[in-house]
Amino acid sequence: PLAQLNDPSLLKTDGLINGQWVAGSSRFDVHDPATGQKLADVANLSPQDAEAAIAAANAAWPAWKTKTAKERSIILRKWYDLLMANQDDLGRIMTAEQGKPFPEAKGEVAYGASFVEWFAEEAKRINGETLPQFDNSRRLLVLKQPIGVCAAITPWNFPLAMITRKVAPALAAGCPVVIKPAELTPLTALAVAELAQRAGIPAGVLNILSADAANSIAIGKVLCASDVVRHISFTGSTEVGRILMAQSAPTVKKMSLELGGNAPFIVFDDADIDSAVEGAFASKYRNAGQTCVCTNRFYVQEGVYDEFVTKFAARVLTAKVGNGFEAGVNQGPLIEEAALVKVQRHVDDAIAKGGQVVAGGKRLSSLGSGQFFEPTVVAGATADMLCAREETFGPFAPVFSFKTEQEAIDAANATEFGLASYFYSRDVGRIFRVSEALEYGMVGINVGILATEHVPFGGVKQSGLGREGSHYGIDDYVEIKYLCLGDI
Ligand code: ADP
Repeated sequence: PLAQLNDPSLLKTDGLINGQWVAGSSRFDVHDPATGQKLADVANLSPQDAEAAIAAANAAWPAWKTKTAKERSIILRKWYDLLMANQDDLGRIMTAEQGKPFPEAKGEVAYGASFVEWFAEEAKRINGETLPQFDNSRRLLVLKQPIGVCAAITPWNFPLAMITRKVAPALAAGCPVVIKPAELTPLTALAVAELAQRAGIPAGVLNILSADAANSIAIGKVLCASDVVRHISFTGSTEVGRILMAQSAPTVKKMSLELGGNAPFIVFDDADIDSAVEGAFASKYRNAGQTCVCTNRFYVQEGVYDEFVTKFAARVLTAKVGNGFEAGVNQGPLIEEAALVKVQRHVDDAIAKGGQVVAGGKRLSSLGSGQFFEPTVVAGATADMLCAREETFGPFAPVFSFKTEQEAIDAANATEFGLASYFYSRDVGRIFRVSEALEYGMVGINVGILATEHVPFGGVKQSGLGREGSHYGIDDYVEIKYLCLGDI
């Protein structure tokens, strides 16, 4: 699939440190999850390379932070234009290494690029304040200054957008960055870095440490332990987030964490069921269920339970599974074998505890060696099932039934996670009651998809710290300084 790029020079396989492409002392393979085929071998950078990248970023910082906001904004805007001009190629690279359907991959390029556009604009609005003096011989001011060298550790499910959502606000605020992309999807990250170079982002301001799983762990330790790195932004599992937090305690690092979710999707008796079915389908099966905001648990009120299950199963059975490059495919492969094993474990557990399969239920081995799993719906789900507690991160929809509004709220909140939640209702009182009662950072009401660049994305409880995107998205990348000026 990579032979068809319009611009083959976007296919980079080396890391980027201080504006130089670095081959590394070893390499690791990247595979196509739809076919198992090797796509490329990529530089496996080391902890020493991480030290070099941190030093390069720190050296590049003074010149970057003293550019005017408008100068930084113009460079970011150019990067945005290049990302969009290369949408097809970036989408192609992404589908090849990540598996999501090509139209969905191109959608992610546009979504990811939109953060660069947004923060190019926000760069010019990082305003300080003047405060009323408590003594007329003084003047009181608040400055916002870039926090310093930032590190970003990103996942494979959004190989482009999770980079731009972190890097664009950092660059806008005047911070240099060191990025450690996911080992399963480094090619998209490297192409994005190549376009950053072409946009004129100076040497050392944006560095990329491609690395395999073992070196990623070692590099993570270096980034956390460094006194120079002032901020770490991570998107990934709660388990790894906890490790990074613990490792960052000795240097009291600021952190933005976007961790696991266990999103509930509640359908009340008064909902528009056809709309709920469409929202449920979009929310569950996008990216083959591999997003942290994908619904994990469906709660449907008794009066509409049978209707919802019947219509939802029928909708799910229309989905086409296959190689993301094939026209009309809605669901690609899962990222790796372990992901498929986890989905099967959750489905088998649900069946063993009395769940009824109404769609799918097993691996699609007819599609060759890729990790394809049937879009699956299991009715009669209960609280003792694994899927009630753990994030499945795959195309499995368990459907629970409930009687009262309070019962649904309690079930939805019975988790340590608190990222996205969804519910369907046409009752305005209920909409306010339930929105306020859900312990989640984001609530979708009568919608199944809610992310965009100018809204605050993030979670509560063990789903993370901080908000990405929106005007709040800059906050984590600036320090607030109070100036107290006397002798006026
Ligand atoms: P996912 O569950 O999405 O695969 P992970 O949390 O395992 O997410 O990985 C997300 C990112 O975190 C990847 O870039 C991966 O290389 C990195 N990572 C995984 N384990 C560690 C670790 N112990 N230290 C630093 N980075 C890690």
